[in-house]
Amino acid sequence: MRYLPIHIDLKDKTVLVFGDGPAAEAKLRTLMKTDARLVAVADTPSTEMALWAREGHIEISADADLATATLVYAATEDETENLRIAGRARALRIPVNAADQPAGCDFITPAIVDRTPVAISIGTEGTAPGLARALKSDLEARLPSDLGQTSRHIKALRDTLKVEEPDIAKRQAVWADVLGAGLNDLTSLNADAVSERYDAVRAGSASGQGHVHIVGAGPGDPDLLTVGALRAMHSADVVVYDRLVSEPVLSLCRREAEFVYVGKQAGEASTRQDEINRILVEKAHEGYRVVRLKSGDPLVFGRAEEEFAALDAARIGFTIHPGITAAAAAAASIRHSLTVRGENTAAVLATGHDENGFAELDWASLAEPGARATIYMGLRAARFIQGRLMLHGARPTTPVAVVENASRPDEVVLQTTLGDLPDDLVTHGISGPAVLMIGYARRAAQAHLKAAS
Ligand code: SAH
Repeated sequence: MRYLPIHIDLKDKTVLVFGDGPAAEAKLRTLMKTDARLVAVADTPSTEMALWAREGHIEISADADLATATLVYAATEDETENLRIAGRARALRIPVNAADQPAGCDFITPAIVDRTPVAISIGTEGTAPGLARALKSDLEARLPSDLGQTSRHIKALRDTLKVEEPDIAKRQAVWADVLGAGLNDLTSLNADAVSERYDAVRAGSASGQGHVHIVGAGPGDPDLLTVGALRAMHSADVVVYDRLVSEPVLSLCRREAEFVYVGKQAGEASTRQDEINRILVEKAHEGYRVVRLKSGDPLVFGRAEEEFAALDAARIGFTIHPGITAAAAAAASIRHSLTVRGENTAAVLATGHDENGFAELDWASLAEPGARATIYMGLRAARFIQGRLMLHGARPTTPVAVVENASRPDEVVLQTTLGDLPDDLVTHGISGPAVLMIGYARRAAQAHLKAAS
């Protein structure tokens, strides 16, 4: 290893960046993330640099005293000039970096994954900057975005532990236990999970309590999963999933996981909610990382509150990963905004069905001209919904877009009207899953293109 990666404290230190072109800008952009006093040595600063100066991020100077600098960047667009600056800095024993010129570099600036105070630097000793960038984006996607917060949280716990436990070896053992085996999965690495594990370890009962991730699987297309959802799925020990979770999404879960299907079996009622709660609690108590995979967004018509209550009652920690709900995906399918400025001030998400059968909605407001609502679980209730809305004055010509299997390869969009809705559902054999989008018409250009093809 020719280069030693070190992290230098730049608080209130002066860093000089020579140059006024793209190379200097790039260096400044990275350095602005630090607490350094940044001086751009430039005769004709770029607009961007002038803006940074106005905002107080950097100072601009036509000339600067090298001796005041902790680090020097020679990033003019002139290679000879850069080597000359490097020579001057070296004469003063100030580490220097000449942009893209290894001969003028005492140090290189790595690719950085920044989760302050956690920072990961990636360097290839100049051999493959592209590889460093690829590694950086891979790590960016995999590391929780709140890693910095977690790290500060650990610092606070360490301060407490220092007071309580004077023996350093014992303190290290506690941290090995808290951050080791029990938390070797990055998805569980957040402040709450650390606290929970810390408390368990301190209580001497490091039994390795499991954790439940309530994960939104989205409407079907795996592209619509969040990065956090994917992370949780990749490290699951147990996956408890519903009927509407698509096969391509399911196949992204860790292969070695135990898969528990809790949806409807053909001809049977779905697994009872308290049975699902029981499975979640039992698997977490056994110490497993449980992923509860629910279609769409788990917090939209997903009975999530009942699962939260069961987990709370059993004192099991859980993390929620929101997902793309069917209405959002369906709106994209018909290329129509859920809310349109000046047209609808509310976009209602309603269910056609509740525990008492067909749901009674606020028909009067839904029947108003211009009202827009997306109805879930509405297929069987379609005739009832039509009747209620028309009874309250909705026009039969009100547009209704029906989106079946939104975001999936077998997606169908049926554009109809309130008057024709129930019959059209039958004629077109719409059997679900589908949403009824009352007051929405598929974007005209789309319809036109379809008609033309
Ligand atoms: N939590 C889910 C909703 C579960 S309720 C979400 O946020 O999307 C089940 C209903 O969701 C179905 O009856 C249907 O109305 C709707 N739905 C789920 N997936 C769908 C899809 N891919 N396309 C259209 N509607 C869907």
